Amino acid sequence: MQKISKKGGGWVLTKKNLLQVKNGLLDTARIKLSPNHDERPDETDISLIVIHNISLPPSEFGGKGIDQLFTNTLDKNEHPFYKEIHELRVSSHLLIRRDGEIVQYVPFHKRAWHAGISEFLGRDVCNDFSIGIEMEGTDFEAFKDEQYQSLLLVIKSLLAHYPHLSNSAITGHEHIAPGRKTDPGPFFDWARLSTTLQANLPAKGCRA
Ligand SMILES: [Zn+2]
Repeated sequence: MQKISKKGGGWVLTKKNLLQVKNGLLDTARIKLSPNHDERPDETDISLIVIHNISLPPSEFGGKGIDQLFTNTLDKNEHPFYKEIHELRVSSHLLIRRDGEIVQYVPFHKRAWHAGISEFLGRDVCNDFSIGIEMEGTDFEAFKDEQYQSLLLVIKSLLAHYPHLSNSAITGHEHIAPGRKTDPGPFFDWARLSTTLQANLPAKGCRA
């Protein structure tokens, strides 16, 4: 795992530390490809980053549930909640686990199925033009330092690789699907991202 060094109160990342993207995949991610994806309407339009949280079973960390959900292999008898969700066909591009491990399920130039009904600045179907990043966690507790370190490294690397992304177009699922979604939730430290990326985050998805 490459480290981000902390200097002067902010996280500083030099270009040589960035993760490389090859064929839409991060070179240091654990790859676990999901069938739950399709083509983007415009493969070159990757212009938004959406942050989520997920834990399976709910509020439990470190298990195989997320991999299984995203690869359609969840056993509905393993947990009562799995009976409700085992037929969902969903995915995200990335998952950042509690220890900072980065898992990739869908290449970035493909459309992952993470946002659902959503709107960002007048555009709907945010899956078309966004990258979805799941933070392993819940709406009810803080995320780990290791997760923020990985997240910031990933975001910086994506900003360097995809020219239509911008540090001001980073938002939460709750902001592009208000009233329907609550993640990444009140414990996600947007101020930390804002300081590091020198942007006012989260970007507000819907026009007031
Ligand atoms: Zn979400």
